[in-house]
Amino acid sequence: MKKITIVLVLLGMVFGCKAQKLPKAYKTNKSEGHFVAAKKNALKIAVTGGGGSHDFLKFFGIADGEILSENGSNTVIYTQDVEEMGALVPAVDVLMLTNNQPLDGTAKNAIFNQVNEGKLNMMIYHPSTWYNWEDWPEYNKQLVGGGSRSHEKLQEFEVIVTKPNHPIMKGVPAKFRIVDELYRWEKDPEGTDIEVLAVGKGLESGEEFPVVWIVKHSKAKIIGNTLGHDERAHGLKAYQTLLKNSLDWVKKK
Ligand SMILES: [Zn+2]
Repeated sequence: MKKITIVLVLLGMVFGCKAQKLPKAYKTNKSEGHFVAAKKNALKIAVTGGGGSHDFLKFFGIADGEILSENGSNTVIYTQDVEEMGALVPAVDVLMLTNNQPLDGTAKNAIFNQVNEGKLNMMIYHPSTWYNWEDWPEYNKQLVGGGSRSHEKLQEFEVIVTKPNHPIMKGVPAKFRIVDELYRWEKDPEGTDIEVLAVGKGLESGEEFPVVWIVKHSKAKIIGNTLGHDERAHGLKAYQTLLKNSLDWVKKK
């Protein structure tokens, strides 16, 4: 009995240390994109928003946050406060980056430190796959694998799955249409290698660009996804399936 008790205490200490504490006591508040799991050692996800051209809170914080919370199994905290981002990043397992507002030095360092220590996986969505920050070239090069500088006008286009057997594409139609901005996303030949899982094809232009890809970072699981401008993306079943599958993929150690 004694030995078992000791083992249990040791296990408790190990898992206790692993469960990072969030910087403040959050409560579930869907209108703020806060979903707090009852379990203490639940998976923790930060969603960062803020900047221009998008309703970050409504779509990435609230709509996507609900999916990421998996009915209360995971803790999801949305913020567009840059200072809060710097404090949250070291405490979470997964970061969904959607902001196009600039980050401060603390937040930038926290992201790179956690990624390089193998403690943070990332989902980089729509506005954050852009070339937003000239003073942070290592972001696009190392974490995104490239970027976009323009997009086709907001209209319907086709998404074609190129790696149907990948787990992120499970249950996603081989081809589907979406009303969104087709980002003219380009791989940086000097950036981290990527694997494209789906492309978008302009119905008028016929041009194709990566829409979902994996960034083959040596220390982290990172997914890039250029979809998500407004409710016509976030409300689409295929978008939601991709988000759920992406979480399943990044949360596996
Ligand atoms: Zn957009």
